Amino acid sequence: MRVDHAVTKGTFSLDGETFDVDNNVWVVGDDNECVVIDAPHDVRVILDLVGSRRVVAIVLSHAHDDHVRVAPELARQTGAPLLLHPEEEVLWRLVHPDEPLPAPLADGQEIAVAGGVLRVLHTPGHSPGAVCFQAPELGCVFTGDTLFQGGPGATGRSYSDRPTIERSIRERLFALPAETVVHTGHGADTTIAAELF
Ligand SMILES: [Zn+2]
Repeated sequence: MRVDHAVTKGTFSLDGETFDVDNNVWVVGDDNECVVIDAPHDVRVILDLVGSRRVVAIVLSHAHDDHVRVAPELARQTGAPLLLHPEEEVLWRLVHPDEPLPAPLADGQEIAVAGGVLRVLHTPGHSPGAVCFQAPELGCVFTGDTLFQGGPGATGRSYSDRPTIERSIRERLFALPAETVVHTGHGADTTIAAELF
C-alpha cells in the first residue's frame, strides 16, 4: 500500500467569487489497484498518477468545485464509482447540475484497497458532508479542506460553520494517533500532533 500525489492548478468559485487554487490529488493503492481521493481540475494529471491500475473508487472529501470538477469525467474514463457524503448534495448540484449524485459515503464506512482500508470519518464544518479518510495501515489521514498545516479549513462561505469544524477536528481527528500524518487538500502535509489546539 502506498500513496501517490500530484498538484493540479485551477480555480475555486463560491458565492460569486473566484480564486486561483492549487489542489492536492491523492492516490492510495498498490501496483494493481487504487482509490483516487478528490478529482480536481485536470483529469490528465490524475490518470497519469493512476497509470494502468484498476480504480476501485473515486472518493470525494467534499463537493466544492475545485475538488470535484472532473469527477464525472474521471469516473467515465476509469469506470470507477464516485462516492460522496449525501449531505454534500446542495454543493454537488451547484457544480454538476446535470450529473447524477454520487453514491453515498457513510461515517465509519471502510473502502478496501490494496490489502488495507480507507475509513470514512464524517467531519462537517467546512461543508455539511465533508469527510476525512483515515488509512490505518499507512498511519495517515486525508483531510480534504477540514484540517491544514496551520489549522482548520476555511469557514467564511456558504454552508460552512466554524464551531462545527472545530468540534469535528477535536472529536474525530484529534482522536487519531498523534503521529498520524495529515495529507491535506491544499498545501503541505502536517501531523495530528503538530495541529493540536
Ligand atoms: Zn473546500
